[in-house]
Formats: sequence, C-alpha cells, structure tokens
Amino acid sequence: MPDQLPEHPDWLWRTPDPKPSYDVVVVGAGGHGLATAYYLARNHGISNVAVLERGWLAGGNMARNTTIIRSNYLCEESAAIYEHALKLWEGLPEELEYDFLFSQRGVLNLAHTLQDVREGTRRVGANRLGGVDAEWLDPDEVRAFCPIVNTSPDVRYPVLGATLQPRAGIAKHDHVAWALARKADEHGVDLIQNCEVTGFVRDGGGRVVGVETTRGRIGAGRVALAAAGHTSTLTDLLGLRLPIQSHPLQALVSELLEPVHPTVVMSNHVHVYVSQAHKGELVMGAGIDSYNGYGQRGSFHQIEHQMAAALELFPIFARAHVLRTWGGIVDVTPDASPIIGLTPVENLYLNCGWGTGGFKATPASGWVYADTIAHGRPHQLAAPFALERFATGALIDEHGAAAVAH
Ligand SMILES: Cc1cc2nc3c(=O)[nH]c(=O)nc-3n(C[C@H](O)[C@H](O)[C@H](O)COP(=O)(O)OP(=O)(O)OC[C@H]3O[C@@H](n4cnc5c(N)ncnc54)[C@H](O)[C@@H]3O)c2cc1C
Repeated sequence: MPDQLPEHPDWLWRTPDPKPSYDVVVVGAGGHGLATAYYLARNHGISNVAVLERGWLAGGNMARNTTIIRSNYLCEESAAIYEHALKLWEGLPEELEYDFLFSQRGVLNLAHTLQDVREGTRRVGANRLGGVDAEWLDPDEVRAFCPIVNTSPDVRYPVLGATLQPRAGIAKHDHVAWALARKADEHGVDLIQNCEVTGFVRDGGGRVVGVETTRGRIGAGRVALAAAGHTSTLTDLLGLRLPIQSHPLQALVSELLEPVHPTVVMSNHVHVYVSQAHKGELVMGAGIDSYNGYGQRGSFHQIEHQMAAALELFPIFARAHVLRTWGGIVDVTPDASPIIGLTPVENLYLNCGWGTGGFKATPASGWVYADTIAHGRPHQLAAPFALERFATGALIDEHGAAAVAH
C-alpha cells in the first residue's frame, strides 16, 4: 500500500478493521465534541457515535473558561454563527432539562480612546444590520448600567462609552458539559474517557477508517476532531499542516463575595474582563500568553497586568483576594476565527481554532459540525470557516475587532 501513496509515512499504514465500530468517532469530550455527538443523534439520527477523551469529560478548556456568551462579532459570518449559538443557548436549559445557570445579564465592551469609540459604534451598526441586539452607551449610561465601573474622567484611560449586548451573559460551564453528555448518552452515544487518540488508521485509498488509541484500535466511518488546543498535533500525524498555534490562556477568581457586579465588563484597551459568578467569585481574564505552549498554566506577569487593569476599572476590588488561577490551551488561527469542515483527508473532519472564544459557540459549533459530518458537505453557517480560506484569502478577520475576544 505505501507504494501507491508515497506521501504518507510508512508507520501510518495499518490493516484496517473490515467494519467500522462506530459511524462517527469524535475526538475530544469538551463542549464542542459533546455538542457534536448530541446533535448527530438528535438532529440526524446518528447515534452509533463514540466520543473519545484522553483525560476526563470536559477537563480541557470547557471547564476552564470564563463562560462569557455573546454574539456581537463584527463580521457577518461570525455574527451569524455566534447568534445561532445564542438562540440555541436561550432554549438549551429546557431542551437538555438541566439548569446550567444561563444568565443573560448583558456584556459591556468599554471604549477608552477615539479609535475604540469608532470601532464600537461601527460594530453596533454592523450588529444591528445583522439582527444582533446591540446598543451604544455614553459614560453616564455605562455608570447607570454598572455602577462599580470607574467612569471618572481623571484616570489614565477614561471610559468614553461602551457597546452593550443585553442578551449576552454567562453560564455554568461544567454543568453545560454534563447536560450535553447526559443527553448524548441518553441517545446511545458512547463517552469513553482515558482514551487518547495516538494515530489514525487508513485504508488503501488513504481514507481514514479508524483511530489508534491508548485503549486499542477503534474503527470509524468518519473521524471528527474536536480536540481544541491539540488539533495540529493530531493532523501532523497525517501530514496535514494547519494554520494554528497553541497558546496558554489563563484566568483567575477572587474569594466569594456578596453580589456587587451586575453584568460582564470587557476592556480591550486596559485588557481585562470581569464578571461575577453565581457563587460570588469575581471571574477575571485577559489575553493569551504570547508564547506557544501546551502547559495548562501561564506566566505570572500576565496575571499582574490583568490585576492592574481590573483595579484601574474597578477600584472597589482593591481589597479582594485572588483565590485561584489556572490556564487552558487555546488554538489560535491567523484571522482569529475557527476552522470547521472537511479536510483533504477523506472521512476526516475538522473543528478547531476557536481560540479564546469558543465556549459561547458550543451549541452552534456542535450543530453545524454535526450537520457537516452527517451530509459530507459544509453547513451553510460553517462554509465560510472552511480551511480553504487560508488559500483563497477570504479571511474572517475578528482580530481585535470584537473587544477582548472571549
Ligand atoms: C482561561 C480561558 C478562558 C476562556 N474564556 C472564554 C469565554 O469567556 N468565552 C468563550 O466563549 N470562550 C472562552 N474560552 C475558550 C473556550 O474555552 C474554548 O474555545 C472552547 O472550550 C474549546 O472547545 P472545547 O470545549 O471543545 O475544548 P476542550 O474542552 O479543550 O476540549 C477538547 C478536548 O480534547 C481532548 N483531547 C485533546 N487531544 C486528544 C487526543 N489525542 N485524544 C483524545 N482527546 C484529546 C482534550 O483533553 C479536551 O478535553 C476560554 C478558554 C480559556 C482557557
């Protein structure tokens, strides 16, 4: 066989099982993998599905993120998919019969410079045209909406206004994972933990027909990657290079406090975002650590910067204490938009590159990915996010255009 397809290294070639064990094998039991399995079963009647997870269910970014949900992205393509997600979120607790504390408390993106104001008002206009709820608030309105933000004109970067998406908010991330897992399981999906995918099985035509795992070979009609942060390490095994870099992204929480913070505040300029979890912790994050890495922790100077930014915006936090910090590994593309769709390798599907902002997309990502896998062609909302855009140049540039990109 290797002689016929010399571009594949010899060690990739294995004798495939004659019959797939599963119609679809999803790699990665984070939010996107679980949502994909759930919608494969629910929307397409495909329940002979396994979700393989190298660690434990939702032990990756899914339960490490800061849970911001919004759809106020700049580009039409992004706003469409994130708005589809937001509409799904609005019905999901009932559908999944699980109260995962979805709270539409609004998200403010603060503007501190004239350029921020221009970007914000432009985005409000674009969002409204696209049917996404969006408002522009002046500093007095910001103060009325979130009284603890420092709107004094006498600070280094005074607040000149903010965008507000009223339907945006937060949810309890690990509960979302359990809810999706439970429903997928009810539909007959197998959730297999401690099962790392270490290779791919291909037939004589180069098609992927299974995966090698730490628990043995598993046959698959189709293999759907949903391994955020690690996708390129998997596709490298197939000789498929992706325009992706993995970075640490950290966050932290304070000790439990009385409710003081009514919404979510993000500031690209001083670079921090803050919400308050239902339990009472202030939840804070910032940008990625700038180096590449796979360690689920980041460097201390990032935390120092985000704390300084938080204190500048919220002097009331001066006496709060940090309870816990942690990190995840996010995969970042050159245009800060995800990659969803088919690959040059037959039977292999790709869903990655959600970077710092994939939690909010979870239901829509699963929805469009399941549809793409079920039909073997891109879902209409996924089509613009195909891998080919890096060859055609039809990039969906969300870099910096939608505030701190969480
Ligand atoms: C600190 C932080 C804050 C964030 N804040 C936000 C936010 O506020 N809003 C927002 O929208 N997004 C946010 N994100 C981004 C969001 O968490 C991710 O984009 C999203 O979770 C990625 O999809 P996922 O849930 O499927 O990933 P993951 O949960 O990471 O799932 C991927 C899974 O694949 C598994 N895996 C990897 N390799 C293999 C293998 N070889 N075999 C088997 N399994 C494998 C991993 O163990 C992992 O469980 C944040 C991320 C971090 C780290």
